[in-house]
Amino acid sequence: MDQSGVTAQTPKSPWGSAAPAAPACSLAEVMSEQLAKQLDEENAVVPALSDPAAELLPDEAPDTTSDLMLAQMLQMQFDREFDDQLRREEKKFNGDSKVSISFENYRMVHPYDDSDSSGDEVDWQDTRHDPYRADKPQTTPRKGFTGKGKNITTKHDEVTCGRKNTARMDNFAPEVHVGDGLGMDLKLSNQVFNSLKRHCYSEQRRSARLHEKKEHSTAEQAVDPRTRLLMYKMVNAGVLENINGCISTGKESVVFHADGGSLEEQPVPDEVVLKVFKTTLNEFKNRDRYIKDDYRFKDRFSKLNPRKIIRLWAEKEMHNLGRMKKAEIPCPEVVLLKKHILVMSFIGKDHVPAPKLKDAMLNSEDLKNAYYQVLHVMQQLYQECNLVHADLSEYNMLWHEGKVWLIDVSQSVEPTHPHGLEFLFRDCRNVSTFFQKRGVSEAMSTYDLFNAVTGLNIPVGAEDEAEFMAEIVALEKRNEDHIQKRGKKTFPVTSEDGGPPLEPDADD
Ligand code: ADP
Ligand code: MG
Repeated sequence: MDQSGVTAQTPKSPWGSAAPAAPACSLAEVMSEQLAKQLDEENAVVPALSDPAAELLPDEAPDTTSDLMLAQMLQMQFDREFDDQLRREEKKFNGDSKVSISFENYRMVHPYDDSDSSGDEVDWQDTRHDPYRADKPQTTPRKGFTGKGKNITTKHDEVTCGRKNTARMDNFAPEVHVGDGLGMDLKLSNQVFNSLKRHCYSEQRRSARLHEKKEHSTAEQAVDPRTRLLMYKMVNAGVLENINGCISTGKESVVFHADGGSLEEQPVPDEVVLKVFKTTLNEFKNRDRYIKDDYRFKDRFSKLNPRKIIRLWAEKEMHNLGRMKKAEIPCPEVVLLKKHILVMSFIGKDHVPAPKLKDAMLNSEDLKNAYYQVLHVMQQLYQECNLVHADLSEYNMLWHEGKVWLIDVSQSVEPTHPHGLEFLFRDCRNVSTFFQKRGVSEAMSTYDLFNAVTGLNIPVGAEDEAEFMAEIVALEKRNEDHIQKRGKKTFPVTSEDGGPPLEPDADD
Protein backbone atom coordinates (compact mmCIF):
# COMPACT_ATOMS: atom_id res chain seq x y z
CA MET A 1 0.00 0.00 0.00
CA ASP A 2 1.50 3.34 -0.92
CA GLN A 3 1.02 6.80 0.37
CA SER A 4 -0.61 8.21 -2.78
CA GLY A 5 -3.48 5.77 -2.35
CA VAL A 6 -4.21 7.31 0.99
CA THR A 7 -4.28 10.89 -0.29
CA ALA A 8 -6.53 9.94 -3.20
CA GLN A 9 -9.20 8.78 -0.76
CA THR A 10 -9.24 11.88 1.43
CA PRO A 11 -11.96 14.51 0.90
CA LYS A 12 -11.07 17.63 -1.06
CA SER A 13 -11.32 20.02 1.82
CA PRO A 14 -9.81 18.81 5.05
CA TRP A 15 -12.17 21.11 6.95
CA GLY A 16 -15.33 19.97 5.19
CA SER A 17 -17.96 18.10 7.17
CA ALA A 18 -17.77 15.48 4.45
CA ALA A 19 -18.80 11.90 4.57
CA PRO A 20 -16.70 9.63 6.78
CA ALA A 21 -13.34 8.74 5.29
CA ALA A 22 -12.96 5.20 4.01
CA PRO A 23 -11.21 3.16 6.72
CA ALA A 24 -9.59 0.83 4.19
CA CYS A 25 -6.11 2.33 4.52
CA SER A 26 -5.74 3.12 8.16
CA LEU A 27 -2.32 3.70 9.66
CA ALA A 28 -2.69 0.39 11.45
CA GLU A 29 -2.61 -1.43 8.19
CA VAL A 30 0.39 0.46 6.95
CA MET A 31 2.11 -0.37 10.20
CA SER A 32 1.12 -3.99 10.19
CA GLU A 33 2.36 -4.46 6.68
CA GLN A 34 5.70 -2.99 7.54
CA LEU A 35 5.87 -5.02 10.66
CA ALA A 36 5.00 -8.20 8.81
CA LYS A 37 7.75 -7.50 6.34
CA GLN A 38 10.21 -6.83 9.07
CA LEU A 39 9.24 -10.00 10.88
CA ASP A 40 9.68 -11.95 7.67
CA GLU A 41 13.18 -10.62 7.28
CA GLU A 42 14.05 -11.44 10.84
CA ASN A 43 12.73 -14.94 10.47
CA ALA A 44 14.87 -15.43 7.42
CA VAL A 45 18.02 -14.52 9.39
CA VAL A 46 17.25 -16.67 12.42
CA PRO A 47 15.27 -19.64 11.22
CA ALA A 48 15.45 -21.34 14.60
CA LEU A 49 13.44 -18.55 16.13
CA SER A 50 10.71 -18.55 13.55
CA ASP A 51 7.71 -17.01 15.19
CA PRO A 52 8.04 -18.71 18.52
CA ALA A 53 4.79 -17.32 19.79
CA ALA A 54 2.86 -18.78 16.92
CA GLU A 55 4.63 -22.09 17.26
CA LEU A 56 4.15 -22.45 20.97
CA LEU A 57 0.83 -20.78 21.44
CA PRO A 58 -0.86 -20.94 18.05
CA ASP A 59 -4.13 -19.59 19.34
CA GLU A 60 -2.58 -16.62 21.01
CA ALA A 61 -0.64 -15.08 18.14
CA PRO A 62 -0.07 -11.42 19.00
CA ASP A 63 -2.44 -9.06 17.31
CA THR A 64 -0.39 -6.61 15.29
CA THR A 65 -3.24 -4.71 13.74
CA SER A 66 -3.84 -2.43 16.67
CA ASP A 67 -1.68 0.67 16.95
CA LEU A 68 -2.50 0.98 20.59
CA MET A 69 -1.45 -2.58 21.22
CA LEU A 70 1.82 -2.08 19.36
CA ALA A 71 2.53 1.12 21.18
CA GLN A 72 1.83 -0.56 24.49
CA MET A 73 4.06 -3.48 23.61
CA LEU A 74 6.87 -1.15 22.69
CA GLN A 75 6.37 0.87 25.83
CA MET A 76 6.36 -2.24 27.94
CA GLN A 77 9.55 -3.48 26.32
CA PHE A 78 11.12 -0.09 26.92
CA ASP A 79 9.99 -0.06 30.54
CA ARG A 80 11.34 -3.49 31.19
CA GLU A 81 14.69 -2.65 29.69
CA PHE A 82 14.76 0.50 31.75
CA ASP A 83 13.99 -1.51 34.87
CA ASP A 84 16.66 -4.06 34.04
CA GLN A 85 19.20 -1.29 33.75
CA LEU A 86 17.95 0.24 36.98
CA ARG A 87 18.30 -3.05 38.75
CA ARG A 88 21.90 -3.33 37.57
CA GLU A 89 22.63 0.16 38.75
CA GLU A 90 21.04 -0.57 42.10
CA LYS A 91 23.15 -3.66 42.49
CA LYS A 92 26.30 -1.80 41.54
CA PHE A 93 25.46 1.04 43.87
CA ASN A 94 24.89 -1.22 46.84
CA GLY A 95 27.74 -3.61 46.16
CA ASP A 96 28.35 -5.91 49.08
CA SER A 97 27.13 -3.41 51.60
CA LYS A 98 24.89 -4.83 54.28
CA VAL A 99 22.72 -1.80 54.09
CA SER A 100 21.25 -1.20 50.69
CA ILE A 101 19.37 1.56 49.02
CA SER A 102 16.37 0.50 46.99
CA PHE A 103 15.67 2.02 43.59
CA GLU A 104 12.23 0.45 43.66
CA ASN A 105 10.43 3.77 43.39
CA TYR A 106 12.14 4.64 40.13
CA ARG A 107 10.92 1.55 38.37
CA MET A 108 8.64 1.86 35.39
CA VAL A 109 6.72 -1.35 35.81
CA HIS A 110 4.56 -1.21 38.95
CA PRO A 111 3.80 -3.18 40.87
CA TYR A 112 6.19 -6.04 40.36
CA ASP A 113 4.51 -9.37 40.23
CA ASP A 114 7.46 -10.78 42.13
CA SER A 115 7.76 -9.27 45.57
CA ASP A 116 11.21 -10.66 46.17
CA SER A 117 13.11 -8.07 44.21
CA SER A 118 16.24 -8.68 46.24
CA GLY A 119 16.62 -12.23 44.99
CA ASP A 120 19.28 -13.51 42.69
CA GLU A 121 18.83 -11.88 39.35
CA VAL A 122 19.51 -15.03 37.46
CA ASP A 123 16.68 -16.75 39.25
CA TRP A 124 14.50 -13.76 38.67
CA GLN A 125 14.81 -14.39 34.97
CA ASP A 126 13.55 -17.92 35.44
CA THR A 127 10.30 -17.00 37.04
CA ARG A 128 9.38 -14.23 34.70
CA HIS A 129 7.98 -15.16 31.40
CA ASP A 130 8.33 -12.19 29.17
CA PRO A 131 6.24 -12.58 26.02
CA TYR A 132 7.58 -9.38 24.53
CA ARG A 133 11.16 -10.43 24.20
CA ALA A 134 10.91 -11.33 20.54
CA ASP A 135 14.62 -10.77 19.97
CA LYS A 136 15.70 -13.18 22.69
CA PRO A 137 15.60 -16.93 22.31
CA GLN A 138 12.13 -17.96 23.42
CA THR A 139 12.32 -21.02 25.59
CA THR A 140 9.70 -23.01 27.42
CA PRO A 141 6.08 -21.93 27.21
CA ARG A 142 3.95 -21.51 30.27
CA LYS A 143 2.76 -25.06 30.31
CA GLY A 144 6.38 -26.21 30.84
CA PHE A 145 6.85 -28.28 27.70
CA THR A 146 6.33 -28.18 23.97
CA GLY A 147 5.39 -30.83 21.45
CA LYS A 148 3.32 -33.93 21.80
CA GLY A 149 3.83 -37.60 22.59
CA LYS A 150 7.40 -38.69 21.97
CA ASN A 151 8.46 -35.26 20.76
CA ILE A 152 7.92 -33.49 24.04
CA THR A 153 10.59 -30.92 24.82
CA THR A 154 10.90 -29.79 28.43
CA LYS A 155 12.83 -26.92 29.93
CA HIS A 156 15.70 -29.32 30.64
CA ASP A 157 16.28 -29.82 26.97
CA GLU A 158 19.91 -29.08 26.11
CA VAL A 159 19.13 -26.66 23.31
CA THR A 160 16.46 -24.86 25.32
CA CYS A 161 18.74 -24.61 28.31
CA GLY A 162 21.58 -23.32 26.18
CA ARG A 163 19.41 -20.56 24.78
CA LYS A 164 18.12 -19.71 28.19
CA ASN A 165 21.65 -19.43 29.53
CA THR A 166 22.54 -17.11 26.67
CA ALA A 167 19.59 -14.92 27.54
CA ARG A 168 20.64 -14.88 31.18
CA MET A 169 23.95 -13.28 30.27
CA ASP A 170 21.93 -10.14 29.89
CA ASN A 171 21.68 -10.02 33.66
CA PHE A 172 25.42 -9.70 34.18
CA ALA A 173 26.70 -6.36 35.41
CA PRO A 174 26.81 -3.64 32.75
CA GLU A 175 30.61 -3.59 32.66
CA VAL A 176 30.71 -7.24 31.60
CA HIS A 177 30.91 -7.36 27.84
CA VAL A 178 28.79 -10.25 26.69
CA GLY A 179 29.11 -9.39 23.03
CA ASP A 180 26.16 -9.34 20.68
CA GLY A 181 25.56 -13.05 20.91
CA LEU A 182 22.14 -12.31 22.34
CA GLY A 183 20.78 -11.74 18.85
CA MET A 184 22.13 -15.03 17.56
CA ASP A 185 20.92 -18.48 18.32
CA LEU A 186 23.75 -19.06 20.75
CA LYS A 187 23.60 -21.94 23.20
CA LEU A 188 25.71 -21.93 26.36
CA SER A 189 26.06 -25.11 28.33
CA ASN A 190 25.28 -24.91 32.04
CA GLN A 191 28.92 -25.51 32.86
CA VAL A 192 30.14 -22.64 30.71
CA PHE A 193 27.40 -20.35 31.94
CA ASN A 194 28.10 -21.10 35.59
CA SER A 195 31.80 -20.45 35.29
CA LEU A 196 31.06 -17.20 33.45
CA LYS A 197 28.70 -16.22 36.23
CA ARG A 198 31.28 -17.00 38.89
CA HIS A 199 33.87 -14.99 37.05
CA CYS A 200 31.54 -12.02 36.77
CA TYR A 201 30.71 -12.01 40.45
CA SER A 202 34.33 -12.25 41.52
CA GLU A 203 35.23 -9.44 39.10
CA GLN A 204 32.48 -7.30 40.56
CA ARG A 205 33.72 -7.90 44.08
CA ARG A 206 37.29 -7.13 43.06
CA SER A 207 36.35 -3.86 41.44
CA ALA A 208 34.28 -2.93 44.49
CA ARG A 209 37.31 -3.52 46.67
CA LEU A 210 39.55 -1.45 44.44
CA HIS A 211 36.99 1.30 44.42
CA GLU A 212 36.80 1.26 48.18
CA LYS A 213 40.56 1.53 48.49
CA LYS A 214 40.60 4.51 46.20
CA GLU A 215 37.85 6.14 48.27
CA HIS A 216 39.88 5.82 51.44
CA SER A 217 43.17 6.93 50.03
CA THR A 218 43.22 10.39 51.60
CA ALA A 219 42.15 11.61 54.99
CA GLU A 220 39.21 13.53 53.71
CA GLN A 221 38.06 10.58 51.73
CA ALA A 222 37.79 8.62 54.94
CA VAL A 223 34.20 9.78 55.14
CA ASP A 224 31.42 9.25 52.65
CA PRO A 225 30.30 11.96 50.22
CA ARG A 226 27.23 12.84 52.28
CA THR A 227 29.37 13.49 55.33
CA ARG A 228 31.83 15.50 53.29
CA LEU A 229 28.97 17.67 52.13
CA LEU A 230 27.87 18.25 55.73
CA MET A 231 31.42 19.22 56.61
CA TYR A 232 31.66 21.67 53.72
CA LYS A 233 28.34 23.14 54.74
CA MET A 234 29.77 23.91 58.17
CA VAL A 235 32.63 25.75 56.53
CA ASN A 236 30.22 27.60 54.24
CA ALA A 237 28.09 28.59 57.19
CA GLY A 238 31.17 30.04 58.86
CA VAL A 239 31.05 27.72 61.86
CA LEU A 240 34.45 26.49 60.78
CA GLU A 241 37.18 28.48 59.11
CA ASN A 242 38.91 25.54 57.70
CA ILE A 243 39.08 21.77 58.02
CA ASN A 244 42.72 20.86 58.31
CA GLY A 245 43.16 17.15 58.43
CA CYS A 246 42.53 13.92 60.14
CA ILE A 247 43.77 13.31 63.69
CA SER A 248 42.60 9.76 64.01
CA THR A 249 40.69 7.13 62.10
CA GLY A 250 39.23 4.61 64.43
CA LYS A 251 36.86 1.78 63.90
CA GLU A 252 33.86 3.83 64.87
CA SER A 253 34.86 7.37 64.16
CA VAL A 254 37.12 9.67 62.22
CA VAL A 255 38.40 12.74 64.03
CA PHE A 256 39.37 15.90 62.11
CA HIS A 257 41.11 19.02 63.25
CA ALA A 258 39.52 22.30 62.19
CA ASP A 259 39.84 26.03 62.77
CA GLY A 260 36.81 27.43 64.51
CA GLY A 261 34.78 30.21 62.97
CA SER A 262 31.75 31.68 64.66
CA LEU A 263 28.32 30.47 65.58
CA GLU A 264 25.42 32.62 66.73
CA GLU A 265 25.34 33.18 70.45
CA GLN A 266 28.45 31.12 70.98
CA PRO A 267 32.07 31.83 70.19
CA VAL A 268 33.63 28.81 68.52
CA PRO A 269 37.06 27.95 69.97
CA ASP A 270 40.02 28.65 67.70
CA GLU A 271 40.79 25.00 67.38
CA VAL A 272 38.10 22.36 67.25
CA VAL A 273 37.74 18.73 66.34
CA LEU A 274 35.04 17.12 64.26
CA LYS A 275 34.24 13.64 65.44
CA VAL A 276 32.52 11.93 62.57
CA PHE A 277 30.73 8.77 63.58
CA LYS A 278 31.12 6.26 60.83
CA THR A 279 28.06 5.50 58.85
CA THR A 280 29.39 2.16 57.71
CA LEU A 281 27.38 0.25 60.17
CA ASN A 282 29.16 -3.05 60.54
CA GLU A 283 31.50 -1.76 63.22
CA PHE A 284 28.68 -0.63 65.40
CA LYS A 285 26.91 -3.91 65.58
CA ASN A 286 28.62 -5.14 68.70
CA ARG A 287 28.12 -1.81 70.42
CA ASP A 288 24.36 -2.05 70.35
CA ARG A 289 24.23 -3.13 73.94
CA TYR A 290 25.55 0.22 75.14
CA ILE A 291 22.62 2.06 73.69
CA LYS A 292 19.88 -0.51 73.30
CA ASP A 293 19.69 -1.06 77.03
CA ASP A 294 20.18 2.56 77.93
CA TYR A 295 16.72 3.59 79.02
CA ARG A 296 17.39 7.14 77.86
CA PHE A 297 17.50 5.90 74.29
CA LYS A 298 15.59 2.67 74.54
CA ASP A 299 12.30 3.82 73.09
CA ARG A 300 13.96 5.53 70.20
CA PHE A 301 16.41 2.77 69.44
CA SER A 302 13.83 0.22 68.43
CA LYS A 303 12.14 2.60 66.01
CA LEU A 304 15.18 3.80 64.15
CA ASN A 305 16.96 2.67 61.06
CA PRO A 306 20.70 2.01 61.35
CA ARG A 307 21.71 5.38 59.92
CA LYS A 308 19.72 7.17 62.56
CA ILE A 309 21.16 4.95 65.26
CA ILE A 310 24.59 6.29 64.33
CA ARG A 311 23.25 9.77 65.05
CA LEU A 312 22.21 8.56 68.47
CA TRP A 313 25.84 7.78 69.22
CA ALA A 314 26.83 11.32 68.43
CA GLU A 315 23.91 12.63 70.43
CA LYS A 316 24.83 10.43 73.33
CA GLU A 317 28.40 11.68 73.35
CA MET A 318 27.10 15.23 73.34
CA HIS A 319 24.78 14.66 76.33
CA ASN A 320 27.45 12.86 78.26
CA LEU A 321 30.01 15.59 77.62
CA GLY A 322 27.41 18.10 78.78
CA ARG A 323 27.03 16.34 82.11
CA MET A 324 30.78 16.12 82.52
CA LYS A 325 31.21 19.80 81.82
CA LYS A 326 28.69 20.60 84.56
CA ALA A 327 30.71 18.58 87.02
CA GLU A 328 33.82 20.41 85.80
CA ILE A 329 35.54 17.27 84.66
CA PRO A 330 38.26 18.16 82.13
CA CYS A 331 36.78 17.15 78.79
CA PRO A 332 36.11 18.65 75.35
CA GLU A 333 33.39 21.27 75.18
CA VAL A 334 30.60 20.61 72.73
CA VAL A 335 30.24 23.24 70.03
CA LEU A 336 27.71 21.76 67.68
CA LEU A 337 26.03 18.52 66.76
CA LYS A 338 25.03 18.03 63.17
CA LYS A 339 23.59 14.61 62.41
CA HIS A 340 26.46 12.19 63.02
CA ILE A 341 29.13 14.88 63.29
CA LEU A 342 30.04 16.26 66.69
CA VAL A 343 32.09 19.45 66.80
CA MET A 344 33.93 20.01 70.07
CA SER A 345 36.88 21.89 71.43
CA PHE A 346 40.35 20.64 70.63
CA ILE A 347 42.49 19.27 73.43
CA GLY A 348 45.98 20.28 72.39
CA LYS A 349 47.73 23.29 71.01
CA ASP A 350 48.76 24.66 67.62
CA HIS A 351 47.34 21.75 65.70
CA VAL A 352 49.17 19.25 67.90
CA PRO A 353 46.71 17.04 69.78
CA ALA A 354 47.43 16.22 73.38
CA PRO A 355 49.00 12.79 73.77
CA LYS A 356 47.02 9.87 75.06
CA LEU A 357 47.97 8.86 78.58
CA LYS A 358 49.52 5.78 77.07
CA ASP A 359 51.91 7.90 74.95
CA ALA A 360 52.55 10.77 77.34
CA MET A 361 56.10 10.93 78.68
CA LEU A 362 55.41 11.31 82.38
CA ASN A 363 57.84 11.21 85.25
CA SER A 364 56.85 9.30 88.35
CA GLU A 365 55.56 12.40 90.08
CA ASP A 366 53.31 13.22 87.12
CA LEU A 367 52.17 9.61 86.96
CA LYS A 368 51.14 9.59 90.58
CA ASN A 369 49.43 12.91 90.09
CA ALA A 370 47.65 11.56 87.02
CA TYR A 371 46.52 8.52 88.97
CA TYR A 372 44.84 10.59 91.67
CA GLN A 373 43.24 12.73 89.03
CA VAL A 374 41.82 9.68 87.31
CA LEU A 375 40.50 8.34 90.60
CA HIS A 376 38.83 11.66 91.32
CA VAL A 377 37.41 11.97 87.83
CA MET A 378 35.98 8.46 88.00
CA GLN A 379 34.26 9.29 91.26
CA GLN A 380 32.88 12.53 89.87
CA LEU A 381 31.69 10.81 86.77
CA TYR A 382 29.87 8.18 88.81
CA GLN A 383 28.53 10.25 91.62
CA GLU A 384 27.94 13.66 90.09
CA CYS A 385 27.31 12.85 86.45
CA ASN A 386 25.67 9.51 87.12
CA LEU A 387 27.77 7.97 84.39
CA VAL A 388 30.10 5.07 83.79
CA HIS A 389 32.62 5.74 81.03
CA ALA A 390 32.47 2.14 79.79
CA ASP A 391 35.58 2.46 77.63
CA LEU A 392 38.00 4.05 80.02
CA SER A 393 41.62 3.27 79.44
CA GLU A 394 44.93 4.98 78.73
CA TYR A 395 43.70 5.33 75.13
CA ASN A 396 40.77 7.55 76.00
CA MET A 397 42.49 9.87 78.43
CA LEU A 398 44.63 12.72 77.14
CA TRP A 399 47.42 14.49 79.04
CA HIS A 400 47.24 18.22 78.51
CA GLU A 401 48.54 21.12 80.58
CA GLY A 402 49.25 18.88 83.53
CA LYS A 403 45.72 17.50 83.55
CA VAL A 404 43.99 14.27 82.58
CA TRP A 405 41.21 14.91 80.05
CA LEU A 406 38.49 12.37 79.41
CA ILE A 407 37.32 11.81 75.86
CA ASP A 408 35.31 9.29 73.88
CA VAL A 409 32.15 9.06 75.94
CA SER A 410 29.67 8.05 73.25
CA GLN A 411 29.26 4.64 74.82
CA SER A 412 29.07 5.87 78.40
CA VAL A 413 26.00 4.73 80.28
CA GLU A 414 24.30 5.37 83.55
CA PRO A 415 25.27 3.03 86.39
CA THR A 416 21.75 1.58 86.37
CA HIS A 417 22.25 0.30 82.84
CA PRO A 418 21.74 -3.49 82.96
CA HIS A 419 25.50 -3.94 82.45
CA GLY A 420 26.63 -0.62 83.86
CA LEU A 421 28.51 -1.99 86.84
CA GLU A 422 30.24 -4.60 84.74
CA PHE A 423 31.43 -1.85 82.43
CA LEU A 424 32.66 0.06 85.43
CA PHE A 425 34.52 -2.96 86.70
CA ARG A 426 36.25 -3.26 83.35
CA ASP A 427 37.18 0.44 83.47
CA CYS A 428 38.63 -0.05 86.94
CA ARG A 429 40.67 -2.98 85.76
CA ASN A 430 42.10 -0.97 82.84
CA VAL A 431 43.02 1.93 85.08
CA SER A 432 44.54 -0.19 87.85
CA THR A 433 46.51 -2.31 85.43
CA PHE A 434 47.89 0.70 83.58
CA PHE A 435 49.08 2.59 86.63
CA GLN A 436 50.39 -0.50 88.38
CA LYS A 437 52.39 -1.40 85.29
CA ARG A 438 53.79 2.11 85.19
CA GLY A 439 55.00 1.63 88.74
CA VAL A 440 52.54 3.80 90.64
CA SER A 441 52.67 2.12 94.02
CA GLU A 442 49.63 4.03 95.25
CA ALA A 443 47.44 2.47 92.56
CA MET A 444 44.66 0.43 94.17
CA SER A 445 43.57 -2.99 93.07
CA THR A 446 40.65 -3.21 90.64
CA TYR A 447 38.32 -4.23 93.48
CA ASP A 448 39.32 -1.42 95.79
CA LEU A 449 39.09 1.08 92.98
CA PHE A 450 35.60 -0.16 92.15
CA ASN A 451 34.50 0.31 95.73
CA ALA A 452 36.22 3.68 95.96
CA VAL A 453 34.45 4.92 92.85
CA THR A 454 31.01 3.60 93.65
CA GLY A 455 31.05 4.03 97.40
CA LEU A 456 29.72 0.48 97.52
CA ASN A 457 31.26 -1.93 99.88
CA ILE A 458 31.49 -5.16 98.04
CA PRO A 459 33.65 -7.48 100.14
CA VAL A 460 36.99 -8.19 98.55
CA GLY A 461 37.66 -11.78 99.55
CA ALA A 462 40.67 -13.62 98.37
CA GLU A 463 40.68 -11.43 95.31
CA ASP A 464 38.36 -13.87 93.71
CA GLU A 465 37.07 -12.14 90.61
CA ALA A 466 34.22 -14.58 90.09
CA GLU A 467 32.80 -13.83 93.51
CA PHE A 468 33.15 -10.10 93.07
CA MET A 469 31.55 -10.25 89.64
CA ALA A 470 28.67 -12.33 90.97
CA GLU A 471 28.01 -9.62 93.52
CA ILE A 472 28.10 -6.96 90.81
CA VAL A 473 25.70 -8.88 88.58
CA ALA A 474 23.33 -9.40 91.52
CA LEU A 475 23.40 -5.66 92.13
CA GLU A 476 22.61 -4.94 88.52
CA LYS A 477 19.70 -7.29 88.66
CA ARG A 478 18.42 -5.64 91.79
CA ASN A 479 18.68 -2.24 90.14
CA GLU A 480 16.83 -3.42 87.12
CA ASP A 481 14.01 -4.93 89.15
CA HIS A 482 13.81 -1.71 91.04
CA ILE A 483 13.54 0.34 87.87
CA GLN A 484 10.89 -1.96 86.49
CA LYS A 485 8.88 -1.70 89.66
CA ARG A 486 9.06 2.04 89.88
CA GLY A 487 8.87 2.65 86.17
CA LYS A 488 10.97 4.87 84.03
CA LYS A 489 9.47 8.00 85.56
CA THR A 490 11.88 7.76 88.44
CA PHE A 491 14.68 8.62 86.03
CA PRO A 492 13.36 11.31 83.74
CA VAL A 493 15.10 11.33 80.39
CA THR A 494 15.26 15.08 80.21
CA SER A 495 16.82 15.48 83.60
CA GLU A 496 20.56 15.28 83.69
CA ASP A 497 20.75 14.57 87.36
CA GLY A 498 19.41 11.11 88.12
CA GLY A 499 20.93 9.73 91.27
CA PRO A 500 23.45 6.96 91.49
CA PRO A 501 22.18 3.40 91.70
CA LEU A 502 20.96 1.76 94.82
CA GLU A 503 23.11 0.70 97.65
CA PRO A 504 23.30 -3.08 98.03
CA ASP A 505 21.05 -2.96 101.06
CA ALA A 506 18.64 -0.36 99.72
CA ASP A 507 15.09 -0.99 100.66
CA ASP A 508 13.24 -1.90 97.53
P1 ADP B 1 37.17 6.54 68.92
O1 ADP B 1 35.80 6.14 69.37
O2 ADP B 1 37.38 6.36 67.46
O3 ADP B 1 38.26 5.96 69.79
P2 ADP B 1 37.89 9.05 70.18
O4 ADP B 1 36.90 10.02 70.68
O5 ADP B 1 38.62 8.23 71.19
O6 ADP B 1 37.19 8.13 69.10
O7 ADP B 1 38.92 9.84 69.31
C1 ADP B 1 39.98 9.22 68.64
C2 ADP B 1 41.26 9.98 68.83
O8 ADP B 1 41.11 11.29 68.35
C3 ADP B 1 41.66 10.12 70.27
O9 ADP B 1 42.44 9.05 70.70
C4 ADP B 1 42.41 11.41 70.30
O10 ADP B 1 43.75 11.18 69.97
C5 ADP B 1 41.77 12.20 69.19
N1 ADP B 1 40.78 13.13 69.76
C6 ADP B 1 39.47 12.91 69.94
N2 ADP B 1 38.85 13.97 70.46
C7 ADP B 1 39.81 14.91 70.61
C8 ADP B 1 39.82 16.26 71.09
N3 ADP B 1 38.70 16.84 71.52
N4 ADP B 1 40.97 16.91 71.07
C9 ADP B 1 42.10 16.35 70.64
N5 ADP B 1 42.16 15.10 70.17
C10 ADP B 1 41.04 14.39 70.15
MG1 MG C 1 38.84 6.21 71.64
